[in-house]
Amino acid sequence: MPLNRRALLGGLTAAGLAGPALAEGPPLIISGRYRQGGCAVGLTSPRARVWLGDELVGQASVTGYFFLGFDRDAGPAARVTVETELGTSSQDMTIAPGDFDVQRIGGLPPDQVTPTDPALLERIRAEAALKAAGYASRIDADFFRDGFDMPLKAWRLSARFGGQRILNGVPQTPHFGSDLAAPKGSAILAPADGVVTLAAPAMHFEGGLTMIDHGQGLVTVYLHQSRIDVATGQAVTRGQTLGAVGMTGRATGPHLCWRMRWRGRNLDPMLLVGLQSPYGR
Ligand SMILES: [Zn+2]
Repeated sequence: MPLNRRALLGGLTAAGLAGPALAEGPPLIISGRYRQGGCAVGLTSPRARVWLGDELVGQASVTGYFFLGFDRDAGPAARVTVETELGTSSQDMTIAPGDFDVQRIGGLPPDQVTPTDPALLERIRAEAALKAAGYASRIDADFFRDGFDMPLKAWRLSARFGGQRILNGVPQTPHFGSDLAAPKGSAILAPADGVVTLAAPAMHFEGGLTMIDHGQGLVTVYLHQSRIDVATGQAVTRGQTLGAVGMTGRATGPHLCWRMRWRGRNLDPMLLVGLQSPYGR
C-alpha cells in the first residue's frame, strides 16, 4: 500500500504525537561518518524504500542494508527515512563541514588544463560519456556492507579529497579524489567486492581508469594506472588485483587517485575505509 510520507510526517508533527504508524515503523540503525564527503551504512527491513531528505534514493537490499553519501558540499542537516507497508522511521543527522585545502599545481601541459584542439575536445566529450555510463550503473547488491579496505598495501596521502584546485594558475573544480602516492607498478587491490563498470586503458585526463559498482549506486574509481588487469563487466572480489599504479593522464608523479561517487555526490573514499556497518564485521 503506497503511503504519502509527507502527509504522514506532517500530520504527526502537527499533532505533536508519535502515532501508531511511527511506533510500528521499520527498524532503522545507521553507522556513519557524518561530515561533508562522508557516508553511512544503514540496516532496516529488506527492500524498505529509503529517502535522503526529500529524495527517494532507492531500496534497502534483500538483507536490509543501504548506503548513504554526503556530498563534498552537503548542507549541515540531513534526514534519512525508511518506509515499508508498516509505516516510516526517520533519523536526523548533523553533517560537519569538511576541512578542504587549496591545491596549486603548475607546469602541467596546457592540453591537460585548458584544451582547445577540436579533435581533443571531441575525445574528452566521448570519454565523459563513458564515465557517465560507468557512474550510472546500479547493480542490486550490498557489497559495501562488510566495509572497505585500502586499495594499496603501502602509500602516502599526497593530496586530500575536496581541495580547491588551481592548475597552471587556473581555478578548476575541486579535487574529488584522495591521491595515494606509491611506486609505479604497485598492485591496486579491490577494496570490496563489486562489478567493473568501466576499464579503459588510455583516457585523456585519467589515463588508465577503472570504475567499480559496489551496489546501490556506490561507485569507486581508480585513475592513472600503468596497467589494467580487469575488463568491463567483470565481477571482482575483495583483495583482487585491479591493475597497477602509474602516472598516465594528468599526473605529475606515480600515484593512485582514488575516487568515490554515490548518486551524483562526490565522496571521500578514505572516510569509507574501516567504517563498521551495523552488525557488520
Ligand atoms: Zn587525484
